[in-house]
Amino acid sequence: MIAILSDIHSNLEALQAVLKDAAAQGVDMYYCLGDVVGYGPNPRECLEQAMGFAITILGNHDQAALFDPKDFNPTAERATYWTRDQIDAPVRNRQAADRRWEFLSELPTTHRIGDVQLVHGSPANPLHEYVFPEDVYNQRKMDRIFGLIKRYCFVGHTHVPGVFTEPHAFYSPDEIDHTYELDGRKTLCNVGSVGQPRDGDRRACYVLFDGKTVRFRRVEYDCDATAQKIYAFPDLDRFLGDRLRTGR
Ligand code: ZN
Repeated sequence: MIAILSDIHSNLEALQAVLKDAAAQGVDMYYCLGDVVGYGPNPRECLEQAMGFAITILGNHDQAALFDPKDFNPTAERATYWTRDQIDAPVRNRQAADRRWEFLSELPTTHRIGDVQLVHGSPANPLHEYVFPEDVYNQRKMDRIFGLIKRYCFVGHTHVPGVFTEPHAFYSPDEIDHTYELDGRKTLCNVGSVGQPRDGDRRACYVLFDGKTVRFRRVEYDCDATAQKIYAFPDLDRFLGDRLRTGR
């Protein structure tokens, strides 16, 4: 069984809860669709975990930590510079910091296994394009994206889980009983966010995948503990902690 997860965003409590849940579901392989870091209080610890995953894709926040944040709002930008310092620390262990930077710098922007493509944002613009549920009303955008999908594509980036199909429709996990069977038709699946869900459900989100069936999982974790850590760092906007409690 494979777990596909995305947008951990330096939230160690959420990641640990997901890893525990996944292990109990028989997961023996992890694919991560990017944004391991950014926003949250534990970038180092989350990166160390991601190093054990079979595949990790580069996300826009991972890239911003590596280079310079582009088109980020002030909150995200400050968090990015703080994240960068954290990845570098502590100075007494240079080797560990180098290993983290090397891991980040070698992440691919896309990966394909047979019929399955993995990207952070969209197949058209792997790092930066959002595909939101309401985009199903934008025929031209969806045509362009589906034109680039070979068969199945898994994404993150919006932090809103669900399944996009042709002709253009979107199904939230609740609408499909948290399960979707891939049937050969082109499908775009957003796996949601581990560390900063934005669909109104504050629980960590990820999917189980056995090559045919996608199962959306929601996992309770101690979001108050994560929020308290965020509040303790002046460079991390309080809003970043508040939103974990509401899932928005
Ligand atoms: Zn993200």
